[in-house]
Amino acid sequence: MKKNRITAAAAVLCLIAAGCGTSDGPTLPARVTTAAEESTGEDLEPETEAETAAVPETEEFSEADDGAADPAGTDTAAEAVQSLLSPDDVYIASAFSGTPDDPYGIVDVSSALYTYENCVNDLRELESYYSSILRTAVIGTTHDGRDLIAFRFGNPEAPKQIFICAATHAREYMTAQLVMKQLEYYCANYAHGSYSDGTSYRDLFDQVCFIVVPMVNPDGVSISQSGEDGLSREDLRQNLQAIYQSDLGFGYTTLDYDSYLRRFKANGMGVDLNRNYSPGWDTLNDRVNPSASLYPGSEAGSEPEAQALMGVINALPNPAAAVSYHSYGNLVYWQYGQEEPLWTANQVLAQHFCDLTGIAMGGESNEAGFSNWCVRVKQLPSVTVEVGSQECPLPIEEFSPIWEAHREVYAMLADCYQ
Ligand SMILES: [Zn+2]
Repeated sequence: MKKNRITAAAAVLCLIAAGCGTSDGPTLPARVTTAAEESTGEDLEPETEAETAAVPETEEFSEADDGAADPAGTDTAAEAVQSLLSPDDVYIASAFSGTPDDPYGIVDVSSALYTYENCVNDLRELESYYSSILRTAVIGTTHDGRDLIAFRFGNPEAPKQIFICAATHAREYMTAQLVMKQLEYYCANYAHGSYSDGTSYRDLFDQVCFIVVPMVNPDGVSISQSGEDGLSREDLRQNLQAIYQSDLGFGYTTLDYDSYLRRFKANGMGVDLNRNYSPGWDTLNDRVNPSASLYPGSEAGSEPEAQALMGVINALPNPAAAVSYHSYGNLVYWQYGQEEPLWTANQVLAQHFCDLTGIAMGGESNEAGFSNWCVRVKQLPSVTVEVGSQECPLPIEEFSPIWEAHREVYAMLADCYQ
């Protein structure tokens, strides 16, 4: 299966060399479109992470799996974590570098079009005001040359760390806006705020700090927001056209090019980053070519974004839990074929999300996702949280209810694991 994938991936790359499927390119299969695909234009909706429910094989828990999922290229992530968690001269629980005129005016939520540039600029600004509790670092680089950024919020020497990531899937970029708004909120309220049980934020984030990657897939997000112009490399733009032609040929889409790109989920090379991890990767065979979604890559851990996330988790000294934000469906996925005591630990984590946010328990997840890797390779309680109630990209009207439901997530998590 692996060889087939590589061959298929190479075929799409040949399309580029051959001018997007002109006479020298491979012949695409006859177009077959199911009724379901016609009705949605792409994947079956609602978008969930539970399209397959394969029972994991015991070999997935082996040490060899761990090794395969920890490829070279994660040194950057490890160094970043070291920087994020280094004892911080300026970490003084009550001290701030300054206070913004409008503490809630940095992360703009008046528009749903929250870009990678917005995210980077907001992090810089927040870090300039709140350097005592916030630090950023680069954990990797995307195919299109964008820095993958992580931040640490809270005490760098906290006994436990919680990992959060968002915007793994391109069109789900409102999740990046959500975690950035959460960061702004906790920065602004760090000194005087408290959780519903009365524990001060300061005490919570002294015991548990957060390592967050707000935009896992900035190349894909930029494609979803700006189309082909979202990519700076000309060869990647041509590759994108070839991926579109391939998806048309296989009957995976009936959309025009602009609509297709707006609903893109994959990274800049057409790899679905939530199918690029080792647990169950070999069982995924529904896409063999780079695609707008579902293509798991030429091998597990092939993509720089996945390598960066694994590198961060591997480098954390005492991670307590991991959360991956997706959209949509208002569900929390927590079953990854794990055994006790992880089964219960994951269920408890999921129940806390349900209790706080009002979202529902989901069933089993698809294979080869980030949470699958956290649970089955790292034995780390992990959930995939789907926010929003309509087709992605979510319109800005969705932000307010999502924000109200998820504002206290950092505090809830810190309260659970302190
Ligand atoms: Zn997703």
